[in-house]
Amino acid sequence: MNQGLPLFEQGRHLLSVSQFTRENLRVLFNLADAVDPIAQRQAVCTVLDGAMLGSLFFEPSTRTRLSFESAFLRLGGEVTTTTGFTFSSMAKGESIADTSRVVSGYSDVLVVRHPDEGSVAQFAEASVVPVINAGDGAGEHPSQALLDVYTLEKELNRRGKSVDGCHITILGDLKFGRTVHSLMKLMSLYDNLTFSLFAPVSLELPGEVERYVTARGHKVRFVDTVVEAVRGADVIYATRVQRERMTEELAQANARGDLLNWAILAEADNLEAILMHPLPRDSRPDSYDLSSDVDDLPGLAIFHQTDNGLNVRMAIFLTALGVSNEAVTMTMKRRPWKATLRP
Ligand code: ASP
Repeated sequence: MNQGLPLFEQGRHLLSVSQFTRENLRVLFNLADAVDPIAQRQAVCTVLDGAMLGSLFFEPSTRTRLSFESAFLRLGGEVTTTTGFTFSSMAKGESIADTSRVVSGYSDVLVVRHPDEGSVAQFAEASVVPVINAGDGAGEHPSQALLDVYTLEKELNRRGKSVDGCHITILGDLKFGRTVHSLMKLMSLYDNLTFSLFAPVSLELPGEVERYVTARGHKVRFVDTVVEAVRGADVIYATRVQRERMTEELAQANARGDLLNWAILAEADNLEAILMHPLPRDSRPDSYDLSSDVDDLPGLAIFHQTDNGLNVRMAIFLTALGVSNEAVTMTMKRRPWKATLRP
């Protein structure tokens, strides 16, 4: 199951979702539940007092970087950060191995995003502390898949359903969308799933991901229209065209208006489905993505995903650094201030 990588636990890198079994996934999700008062700003915590996160992002990011950094800070740790190649010594020709060895010497854990598939594993080889993959090119994005599945469980449970046996439709750039690759692999830990897939021409799912899922007994349907793909689905996961990973010609061929909107869901008689997206949603006029005209639908879960990302990323750090639920509870205290617009 874990393709040669060890299970994710204390002192280990997190490079791929293949480092999870249903058991250690449950342990991680229990930790994510335990830190909820911290995520909700009802409590503050100092369990990572003195710990340093090295945050290295060599590719654009808003959510992933800010939520990893916020998660570490909320647990009482400190953060050093560098973004882009221009401001790092990689602009002077430094190798991944040297950069990793140096920065890991200043940190207790590294979070790394890099445009090349496999590059984060190279960071891990040279690092003296655990490395968390925050996205390696079109490869994997494990923390996104973990927060997606964490959200999926909660949304389905709220409706009296479970992930086992569910029907999920995945739409959009299935080729370069690393969140799709990680999500399908991680969901394969569950039983008896149906994946309905719709991808525009030239952006189809890599065969390796299809084989991974079918080898674990799940059904994969390739569907020609979005209406048919979303019909009857419990969950719909839409994705952005990853323009930065393709030629301008291919990007232009896939600039065609809404991928999914209210009218399509209405035609498919599925306005109640759970709607997910890893974000960012491309809202430019010529994009091919999820329309904002679905934002008032009851199943919209995209901001639950981003909120849950904080819980899951705290749980990832606590696991990598070997901190127990009990240690978190002992160092958690109610905060005397209130920072919410909600009543
Ligand atoms: N934020 C996700 C990623 O970094 C999805 C995306 O960019 O479309 O892969």
